[in-house]
Amino acid sequence: MKDKHPQKDQQDGQHSHEGHSHHPDHHDVPSDAALRVKALESLLVEKGVVDAAALDAIIDTYQHKVGPQNGARVVARAWSDSAFRDRLLADATAAIAELGYTGRQGEHMVAVENTPQVHNMVVCTLCSCYPWSVLGLPPVWYKSSPYRSRAVIDPRGVLQEFGVELPEQVEVRVWDSTAEIRYLVIPQRPPGTEHMDEESLAELVTRDSMIGVAMAKLPQGETP
Ligand code: FE
Repeated sequence: MKDKHPQKDQQDGQHSHEGHSHHPDHHDVPSDAALRVKALESLLVEKGVVDAAALDAIIDTYQHKVGPQNGARVVARAWSDSAFRDRLLADATAAIAELGYTGRQGEHMVAVENTPQVHNMVVCTLCSCYPWSVLGLPPVWYKSSPYRSRAVIDPRGVLQEFGVELPEQVEVRVWDSTAEIRYLVIPQRPPGTEHMDEESLAELVTRDSMIGVAMAKLPQGETP
C-alpha cells in the first residue's frame, strides 16, 4: 500500500495548520471555512445574539477541559468495575454522568463493547456527530468525506489503514452517529493489565480506540 494512513496524515496536516483552512488536501472543507466562521461570529456578536466572551469560554472548554481523557476514564472504570460496565452498557448517558461527564452532544450516549468476537467502530455518515462530552471535538479525518463513506462501504479496509488487522471471524459493526445518538466504543482491555489501577489503565485508552479505529495501547513491555 502506497499510503498507509491517508486520513491520519490529513489530520496531522490540519493540526499543524490550526485555524487556517488553506491546506490543499481539504477537498471536503471549503477553503474559506475559517473566514466564514469568523464572519458569522462577528455578525452574531455585533447583532448582540452571542457574547464573544461566552463563545471563548465554550471554545476553551472543548479545547482544554473536555477531551478523550474523559472517555478514557469511563473505559478504565468499565474495565475495572463490572457493575459500572453493566450500567454503562444499559444506560451510557446515566453511567457517564456518574463520573461527572455531561453536556452538549453527549445527552444520548450508547456504549458498545469490543470483544474477541465483535469489533465496533463509529462514524457519522451525514456530517460529524460525535460524543463531545467524552471525546471532545472530532478529529478532522472523522469529518472527512472519505472516512464517512468508506467506514460503511469498506470498514475492514479503513481499519487496515489505521493499522488494525482483525481476524476474519471477527464481526465488524459500524454505528452511524446522529444528532440523537452518540456512540462510545469500549475497546478490549489489553493483555498484561490485570495488576493495573484505573488511572494507569486510562492511559492506555486512546481517542481512536474509543472511535473504534484502533486498539487500546498495550502496557509497557507487552508485545502483541
Ligand atoms: Fe453528524
